[in-house]
Amino acid sequence: MTIALSQFDEVRLDRVSRDFGALNALRDVSLTIRRGEFIALLGPSGCGKSTTLNCIAGLLPVTGGAIWLDKNRVDTLRPEERGFGMVFQNYALFPHLNVRQNIGFGLKMRGRPKAEIDRKVDEALNLVRLQGQENKLPGQLSGGQQQRVAIARAIVIEPPLVLMDEPLSNLDAKLRIEMRAEIRRIHNELGATTIYVTHDQDEALSLADRIVVLRDGVVRQVGAPKELYETPAHFDVADFMGFRNKLKGKVVAIEGDRTILDVEGARISGVARERVSVGSTGYAAIRSDDLEVGEAGPNAIAATVDTIEYRGREFVGTAHSAGGLDFVFRSHVSVEPGSRIHLRTEDKRILVFAEPVQGRQ
Ligand code: ATP
Repeated sequence: MTIALSQFDEVRLDRVSRDFGALNALRDVSLTIRRGEFIALLGPSGCGKSTTLNCIAGLLPVTGGAIWLDKNRVDTLRPEERGFGMVFQNYALFPHLNVRQNIGFGLKMRGRPKAEIDRKVDEALNLVRLQGQENKLPGQLSGGQQQRVAIARAIVIEPPLVLMDEPLSNLDAKLRIEMRAEIRRIHNELGATTIYVTHDQDEALSLADRIVVLRDGVVRQVGAPKELYETPAHFDVADFMGFRNKLKGKVVAIEGDRTILDVEGARISGVARERVSVGSTGYAAIRSDDLEVGEAGPNAIAATVDTIEYRGREFVGTAHSAGGLDFVFRSHVSVEPGSRIHLRTEDKRILVFAEPVQGRQ
């Protein structure tokens, strides 16, 4: 069963689980991906991103739940019957085949006529901008060019879904940013549906229409990049979205949409993202960009500077409080390590969460 790019509306994971012995690598993962979407699976190492992708591809059987392409159940099909395009971190090119042969491999396996293979390979070469390189072996190409071959090979079969597992992590920082833009361009030009695994939130934020944050095999939040960045629903999602400062305190009051915490005697007022009650433990999360050196007063906490680094436009520092909280902050002026400062931000920059979830049960 090979499905042309245009012939489906959605891919649906319905309570997908995958166990490895006693380990529940995926637990009841439910997700609907619409045709044309670019979805990033994001989360820390071991959260189940690759397992999810491999279950969709058919490289790993699911141990519970089902995967659907519209009304067709696909988790019972072999990988080649699903016909999804895969791009791996290590490119997985055939070293003894040249670029043209690598790209045409899937079509040849499917017994397509030579004229059609040549035409489609030419189109794919154009799309990934590798014209003129078609007779080279993978070993004669740069990392970025090899990754382009891998992408061309995945898309030339016109798969309903393109699955990418950390495709840029072997490239240097500059090339990574260039290839990021290329991947999004190719996705758009092709009208493809892409699921992209990454542990890099910048990559997910810049590429995806929607981001799925996984932790310990569970979906923690699904949303557009801006939504996840500005309004993470849980503490661990906030952590992953760059809220580096985590202030443990006690909820002392709830006043309208403001929740007030006592953090080491300082009054910290923020917006609750989870239900908390007066008297319970609360956690304030603040981005390092939003925590600045300032005056004592509301939303300011006393700290001692540990390190300070010049970053061109500003300084970035680390500090700690008397109670052992660690901070990352920014400053327009240099502050000496060892000096006592106050770190502060506005109410709306502080998100308040309940007790974070513990690790994998
Ligand atoms: P990374 O970014 O490090 O690749 P990931 O989020 O992709 O992490 P997975 O590779 O999906 O995570 O792994 C999820 C969990 O399942 C981990 O605890 C991992 O050790 C475990 N796991 C994955 N594959 C196997 C396997 N073949 N056998 C046993 N355990 C496995």
